[in-house]
Amino acid sequence: MTETRSTCCYCGVGCGVIVSSEDGRITGVRGDPDHPANHGRLCSKGQTLHLTASPALLQARLLQPQRRPQRGAAPQPVTWDAALDELATRLAQAVQQHGPDSVGLYLSGQLLTEDYYVFNKLGRALLRTNNVDTNSRLCMSSAVAGYKLSLGSDAVPCCYDDIDAAGTVFVTGSNLAWAHPVLMRRLEDARAAAPGLKLIVADPRRTETAAMADLHLPLLPGTDVVLHHAMLHVMLWEDLIDRDYIAAHTRGFEALRERVREFSPAHAARICGLKAEDIVQAARWFANADAGAAGTRRPTLSLYCQGLNQSTSGTDKNRTLINLHLVTGQIGRPGAGPFSLTGQPNAMGGREVGALAHQLVAHRDLASASDRAEVAALWGVASLPERPGKAAVQLFEAAADGALRVLWIACTNPAQSLPDQALVRRALERCEFVVLQEAFQGTATAAWADLLLPATTWGEREGTVTNSERRISRVRASVPPPGEARHDWVIARDVARRLERLLPVAHAPGQPPRPLFAFEDAQAVWREHRLTTAGRDLDITGLDWRQLEAAPQQWPFAAGASRGADRLYTDGRFATPDGRAQLAAPAWRPTAEVRSAMYPVSLTTGRLRDHWHGMSRTGLLGRLFAHGGEPCVQLHPQELARRHWAPGELVRVRSRSGELVLPVQPSDSVPPAQAFIAMHWGSEFVSGAGVNALLPRRSCPDSRQPELKHAAVQLERAVLPWRLVAAAWCDEQGWFERREALRALFGQGGQGGQGGPIGHASCVSFGREPEGRIGLLFRAAAAAPPDAAWMHALETALDLHGTAQLRYHDARAGQSRTLRLGSDGTLQAFVLSGDVVAEGWMLSLLQQGDPAAAIGRALLAAGPRPPLAMPPRSPQVCTCHEVTEARIVQALPSCNGTDEQRLRQLQAELGCGTRCGSCLPALRTLVRTVAAPQAETSEAPCLP
Ligand code: SF4
Repeated sequence: MTETRSTCCYCGVGCGVIVSSEDGRITGVRGDPDHPANHGRLCSKGQTLHLTASPALLQARLLQPQRRPQRGAAPQPVTWDAALDELATRLAQAVQQHGPDSVGLYLSGQLLTEDYYVFNKLGRALLRTNNVDTNSRLCMSSAVAGYKLSLGSDAVPCCYDDIDAAGTVFVTGSNLAWAHPVLMRRLEDARAAAPGLKLIVADPRRTETAAMADLHLPLLPGTDVVLHHAMLHVMLWEDLIDRDYIAAHTRGFEALRERVREFSPAHAARICGLKAEDIVQAARWFANADAGAAGTRRPTLSLYCQGLNQSTSGTDKNRTLINLHLVTGQIGRPGAGPFSLTGQPNAMGGREVGALAHQLVAHRDLASASDRAEVAALWGVASLPERPGKAAVQLFEAAADGALRVLWIACTNPAQSLPDQALVRRALERCEFVVLQEAFQGTATAAWADLLLPATTWGEREGTVTNSERRISRVRASVPPPGEARHDWVIARDVARRLERLLPVAHAPGQPPRPLFAFEDAQAVWREHRLTTAGRDLDITGLDWRQLEAAPQQWPFAAGASRGADRLYTDGRFATPDGRAQLAAPAWRPTAEVRSAMYPVSLTTGRLRDHWHGMSRTGLLGRLFAHGGEPCVQLHPQELARRHWAPGELVRVRSRSGELVLPVQPSDSVPPAQAFIAMHWGSEFVSGAGVNALLPRRSCPDSRQPELKHAAVQLERAVLPWRLVAAAWCDEQGWFERREALRALFGQGGQGGQGGPIGHASCVSFGREPEGRIGLLFRAAAAAPPDAAWMHALETALDLHGTAQLRYHDARAGQSRTLRLGSDGTLQAFVLSGDVVAEGWMLSLLQQGDPAAAIGRALLAAGPRPPLAMPPRSPQVCTCHEVTEARIVQALPSCNGTDEQRLRQLQAELGCGTRCGSCLPALRTLVRTVAAPQAETSEAPCLP
């Protein structure tokens, strides 16, 4: 067995992993105890990385280049040479015939820094377009703009150690417990070590993070700027600000003071939907003016993410939060500062090499002639184009308008992740040549790709990533690339080398012409990137590859330094021309879409605990669907009661941009008049164009980040009386093909004019990998039963056609039940259509593998009551140990003592929360809400 140190490929925490492999197969993963980001911890996603790399799941990979003869046709294999030649030729032709801006590169925060670097150089120096942008635009660009405009540089001033040192932690716009679970573990440790630490959480929903807070501020969506201004108003009123720091290190205070004058707590409370006294309390805890040792304040750390960024006022939200740190001097010292958490594993690395359209390498500005000249000289070309490039949404608008003719998409899935999916799909239809470079087949975008290029992924590739705390870590290969997959940077380099022969390159005058893409390995790319950072805020010229091999390192790490900087601005000097931070005084603007009589509900979006983004990787594992596993829209129970809707009823969610039909689920974490849908549900898992079809493409004017967090919607009952539920265990080897066959049934059902079209369908997995099989759960609903061909295709996909052992069919009533039993007498597959009230016990019987054959024909019973005694279905809380909420609730009454003592007893009894810890916030909530046994007493209770 070989062990390789690498980095988790999911979120921006950037946890170190140790990967075990044997005979070219990845066999295990564990947290790297020496990695400073996680000290050995991993969350439920990181813990299961090795399972997503199982050889059986290679069926989900794109393993050879493929070309579609025409749109809609099945892609055909082609050689790498043919694929690369065609791509280079199409790019060169477009540039020559329609100009450089007729092509665009749409990249990803999941690329490694070296991949990003080569793509960026290819776009700017060779294609001579600045149409180079990335899905990090959807994630971090408001944080980038906020830092740059307020502090002078796109540089996170904090580090993870600050969590341990903080006196107050202000979590805003982040469900830390689910989005960055390993940091949540660290925050829990910090609270345990310092019980006086105050946790404030601002979030419209009562998330697991909010439930743990000392103060939850359930502000209305889009009112963050008002909250920040009001907190500052309180700080001014109560003289909690640090006047010396403001005078010495900032500018713009007068304008800001004027701006916040109107935002009294009472006024802000009305706009934000908060209590005025809570705003006052938040301001006092944030300022910590009287809480420290003599002359000091206890430090305050803000942790924030997409709730601030994905907004039409995202930059203002970031800047007004940074204001609070500046006016209280809560920055540049241990435990203090505005800390934006990165959603993707390498969003920061991308920014380092200029992957946003308005940037150039090493945080240089495209708009600056001297920056462009510097980069041109470094690369040995005469000049770089100065025309502004298009940001993510604008790239697709240009394609939809016919201006963008070749679109090269790498490592991302815009047909899932961008807002206004109607536009995205129009753009992909109209664009003359769409290239998708991907590790996985079956993403929504693949349906429009003319050319598919197979890329390597986690476990196979070499390079570096930078996490949220500016720490550069090595990503290492444990196994060779499967099939014909190639590294992203290699694909970009090989296209670039071809383009160098097809397009004229104007080399820098006075420099001998040199090949632009002479890189032979990732290290060579990194070395060139390092050179470009000399003298910049992210200078890493003091760092060499050997040091990176030894341990992850933070930037800046300039020549002569012995280590990277753990935090920035410790001397109060900011990265602005005069060294002062710029306080911002923006007016408040509401969300792009406001609630109205027509669209009376605020829809917000967010993450699930065990899934990541579009789920092309986490969606491979059935076990990761056990927690929050099916697409749904969540509403407050009062909303359901008011509308007379039952849980599971189908609801049409309609916005100005699109619509989606989903089952409704009650959740008291969602306030009345709001709705919540997880961001992951794209057209791969639910019929329609996915949740982002509902979101507007309106963007922040400063950062051009779209408002993916909020839309105004209307909700109405979807009248789809015919229902179907089907589930089956599939052999791991054939699972992917079956899943794709089921997905192909979304939206069909009415061919031939007989049946009704499917109005809603979803398909998710279940299972307990590794056990050689994966379950599929499929649901459909329609106004009328679909045609026979559709039912035939469904039964074939689930291996029920012809092999079913039990079958009941009543054509007139539109009822049918079909079951298959395994040789061991367990239920292996079923389809219930028409009447599906038996789905609960039928699904339990199948998933739990209880003997079913003895029940005989009673299996065909249509009722909701199981024909044998079965435990009720209950949501899974602990994924690692498969512990359900029902078992926890059953066990808790026998746990005694304080909350922490009861939690430990629960863990000892059931094992829950003892491995990755992602479920600990949920366990703590259950411990608080499920009563402890009353201590026995001989005295009568005191009555009032
Ligand atoms: Fe990966 Fe989880 Fe760590 Fe994020 S917190 S890097 S998803 S293990």
